[in-house]
Amino acid sequence: MENSLKNEFEKLQEEILEQSSEQDILQLLTKRFAGGVIFSTSFSYEDQVITHLIKNLNVDIFTLDTGRLFEQTYETWTNTKAFFKKNIKAYYPDTEEIKQFVTENGPDSFYQSVEQRKKCCDIRKVHPLKKALKGYQVWVTGLRSEHSANRQNMPQLEWDPDNEIIKFHPILHWTSEQVTDYVKAHHLPYNALHKKGFVSIGCAPCTRAIKEGEDFRAGRWWWEDANKKECGLHIHQ
Ligand code: SF4
Repeated sequence: MENSLKNEFEKLQEEILEQSSEQDILQLLTKRFAGGVIFSTSFSYEDQVITHLIKNLNVDIFTLDTGRLFEQTYETWTNTKAFFKKNIKAYYPDTEEIKQFVTENGPDSFYQSVEQRKKCCDIRKVHPLKKALKGYQVWVTGLRSEHSANRQNMPQLEWDPDNEIIKFHPILHWTSEQVTDYVKAHHLPYNALHKKGFVSIGCAPCTRAIKEGEDFRAGRWWWEDANKKECGLHIHQ
């Protein structure tokens, strides 16, 4: 299965060069992999744009409810479901796994060390992600190259060997202005925290607003060394 999907991915790389827009590529993917395309949303500005781009396409949507999200993120989830009239599949950490981790380490052990933080991200995000992607062939994301130094040379279409899935990042090369203009132009619901200096919004205890001139990722796990700041959801080759 992995080999045949990987072969499909290699063929697709040539085909999408001929496609003119993200919308054309999304259509091609939903035709080629009918029922096999899924989009992960965290209700960020970027993810709201993509939810709009795929609203009439056969793409399932899911979100990872880590149990530590901001109240404003839950509000955006409610508003998004009402606006698009689409179900958003919710995935949660495994009850036994999180129970054992919190019992042994306390609720906020992610501040103690990178290892503890990564363990928490594994349990609350990475493991549920693997369940969410199971059975799908294409994973659509809202990643943008501006958001992280290691995304600068990332391709728009890539093979994820860890999850054995094709990944497509429709707005990888959009600027912040393009994204916010799109949200405004289509009157999309958005997370109120974006207006308070939050750029990349994750779990409440691990996200802060950034100041003017700070790096986009400065607000995530701000107590850690900058080059350790990935949560394991997106691993690039
Ligand atoms: Fe845990 Fe923080 Fe990672 Fe959320 S972002 S899963 S609270 S370490």
